[in-house]
Amino acid sequence: MRRCVFFDRDGIVNTPPKEGGYVERPDDLVVEPAFLDALRVVVKHGYDAIVVTNQQGVGKSLYSEKTLGEIHNKLLNVVESSGLKILAVYYCPHLAEERCDCRKPKPGLLLRAADEWQIDLASSWMVGDSVRDVEAGMAAGCRTVLVNPQTDDRANVCIERIGCLPATLADVLGI
Ligand SMILES: [Mg+2]
Repeated sequence: MRRCVFFDRDGIVNTPPKEGGYVERPDDLVVEPAFLDALRVVVKHGYDAIVVTNQQGVGKSLYSEKTLGEIHNKLLNVVESSGLKILAVYYCPHLAEERCDCRKPKPGLLLRAADEWQIDLASSWMVGDSVRDVEAGMAAGCRTVLVNPQTDDRANVCIERIGCLPATLADVLGI
């Protein structure tokens, strides 16, 4: 069984879009340097990395699934040219009111990934910058890291800034 670190996308993998906005085209995607450092730690400790992201902008017709694929190809290219690897990107394209099983805080994206890649969820982690990410990770049976916590302290580890993520992962994955 694989061990995995699931990463939320916006605010973790890439700089957050402007308030209430979306990454609508590949040029909008700016990969966080601290994410690449965190990914290096993940790989070094024998974990796989998977991105799990709510992309309601598809449901709102702000961008197509084809464009979303191009955005994710850009991400995978940046990661690969750093000598690193992301196993897969899973996204939920639905509107909140569609009540699907995959939009976080539901754990559907993580459960699907676990099924398709034989991932041991109890040995895996979910990293996000929203309470929804923590809830999805907990519901899937993962441990959780919350970046930029506001009032919620249910995550196993809370850190103030994305810049702290590489060192935090080195701590928790190294045990
Ligand atoms: Mg986020």
